[in-house]
Amino acid sequence: MNGIHFLLTYQCTLECDHCFLYCSPRSEGTFSLSQIKSVLQEAKKMGVEWIYYEGGEPFLYYPLLKEAVSTASRMGFKVGIVTNSYFAHSEEDAVLWLKPLVVAGLDDLNVSNDEFHFGDQEQTTADILAAAARILGLEPIEICIEAPAASLTAAEGGKGEPVVGGSTRFQGRAADLLTEGLPRRPWEEFNTCPYEELVTPERVHVDSFGNVHICQGISAGNMWEKPLAELMESYRAEEHPICGPLVRNGPAGLARELGIQPEPEYVDACHLCYSIRRRVLDTYPGVLEPRQVYGTDNRQQKA
Ligand code: SF4
Repeated sequence: MNGIHFLLTYQCTLECDHCFLYCSPRSEGTFSLSQIKSVLQEAKKMGVEWIYYEGGEPFLYYPLLKEAVSTASRMGFKVGIVTNSYFAHSEEDAVLWLKPLVVAGLDDLNVSNDEFHFGDQEQTTADILAAAARILGLEPIEICIEAPAASLTAAEGGKGEPVVGGSTRFQGRAADLLTEGLPRRPWEEFNTCPYEELVTPERVHVDSFGNVHICQGISAGNMWEKPLAELMESYRAEEHPICGPLVRNGPAGLARELGIQPEPEYVDACHLCYSIRRRVLDTYPGVLEPRQVYGTDNRQQKA
């Protein structure tokens, strides 16, 4: 495994339509410093190279973020951050926020910069933060999620079936808000997972509830109950109640093995996968977690 990605907090300044974690200003779940340190010790045992702090919006907990970067760097990890740059109102201010993190050992900065975050603004806070990062010697990576739109597979000739363009993953809020009006295909066609390496994950996301996400909302187990290194050592995708069916026959296989009758058509594999999972939340406590990633809180399952 190459990377551990901390969902430092689920809280965010924004509430983007495409957010596959359903983050918002009201979200709960933020790491404490002692929790971070215990996970970093496990990551060391696992030979992990990269630690990322993301969210939600990790700069909301700036002192914690700074100490987390510093601790990971001192332990020999390469360290990255993913941010929406909400705080970067001027280059001078952005340097003020970023410089202590660079001094603490920050190696990589990923900045969301797309229409979902900024509409059609000409200069965004992401542009400002990227400029500040370059002043400090970092080469920032801009994350740009295109809005989904129908396109044609054999576009020029007008032949082929309509497919969905853009890079949105239809999970979380994106599944609820962005799928309407998009072309759909029969559910039986989605027989592979297109994005995640479920058998030998190269990275996992971890949250303060202890969940170890193989894909968002699919937990390999709880690292507060079983230490992370041990948990990942014993993880077998084929034996996992959700990953097993996904490995064998993708989201279509998941529907069949769980005995779920899907709607006739879905936008893509993730749309089907997420929709099935949301219907069986009560059957897989501890696996389909946390509930808020499914657009509901930890007590009440969405109908
Ligand atoms: S098919 Fe399911 S497991 Fe695979 S990337 Fe999509 S949502 Fe994740």
